[in-house]
Amino acid sequence: MTTAYLYSPLFLEHQEYGHPESPERLNAILRALDETGVRARLVPIEPTPATEAHIESVHTREHLARVKQLVARGGGHFDPDTYTNESTLDAALLAAGALVRAVDAVMIGEVDNAFALVRPPGHHATRTRAMGFCIFNNVAIAAQHALDAHRLERVLIVDYDVHHGNGTQDIFYDSARVLYFSTHQYPHYPGTGDWREIGKGEGSGYTVNVPLPTGVGDRGFQYIFDELLTPIAERYCPQLILVSAGYDAHWSDPLAMENLTVAGYGALARTLVALARDVCAGRIVFTLEGGYHLPALAHSVVATFHALLGDDDIPDPLGASPHQEYALEAVRRYVEHLKGVHNLV
Ligand SMILES: [Zn+2]
Repeated sequence: MTTAYLYSPLFLEHQEYGHPESPERLNAILRALDETGVRARLVPIEPTPATEAHIESVHTREHLARVKQLVARGGGHFDPDTYTNESTLDAALLAAGALVRAVDAVMIGEVDNAFALVRPPGHHATRTRAMGFCIFNNVAIAAQHALDAHRLERVLIVDYDVHHGNGTQDIFYDSARVLYFSTHQYPHYPGTGDWREIGKGEGSGYTVNVPLPTGVGDRGFQYIFDELLTPIAERYCPQLILVSAGYDAHWSDPLAMENLTVAGYGALARTLVALARDVCAGRIVFTLEGGYHLPALAHSVVATFHALLGDDDIPDPLGASPHQEYALEAVRRYVEHLKGVHNLV
């Protein structure tokens, strides 16, 4: 397999002292990729900035203007969580552009698959506003680009960040051309993602939310991917899979209380890679969303690259969760319920 990564030092320039969404996240990932020898096996692709037309394909003109205004003043906050500084506009345009470039590379067969190591993240940014550390919705911009530029009709977005991707859901809520599937701790930030939120109008049935209690571990997540995501994806038959890859569901993450391990993340990525091979000729692009415990983030991203490269062995230097795992039987019952909601039984 040829696997690309997209990265730029410009992503480090967007920062605020003491904020968990920090440049150190990317530094930790790159260090781990180097130390494990994985980076040497990847194809580096230079990201290019998104155009204003890309941004306005999913966001309002007013939203882009507000980002520009704030950055022109040297930075400021959209809300207490969501900062900008003088480099944020450039970094955010490049983050969205990296995803667009990654989609192009995979669609034209330049590489088999790709992972965009970007900041700021994107999945909380709605059509009209920045929030939850996110300025532009990178994955949504990439999905819209795939529909417009590559004339696709069906794109699947899988979001395993521990928070619900309210922005991505919002942008494609009434569309059948993008199926949005999210696993997330619930109730938790940002408060959306109830299983009853299934889309509307033509998009009805094309939003699949799997809100989770705390403590669901590897076996529970894997069961959901095997028994719910896989049949839904096989029925939808996407032409491209995009993944909002958040690593804050790891057991050591300070921002949430799920129980995934590095090995568990590797196994989920392997499932997604196999799914892409079965339904869309292997076309899959990952993009970095959250993940705030630096070693867990770094090793889990390395595990994801192992899956993208097709490696059999995926090491887990951090090991099993010390916390009690949520009962698998309860996950099974819950998946049965969601299968009913989405007409899979
Ligand atoms: Zn998150």
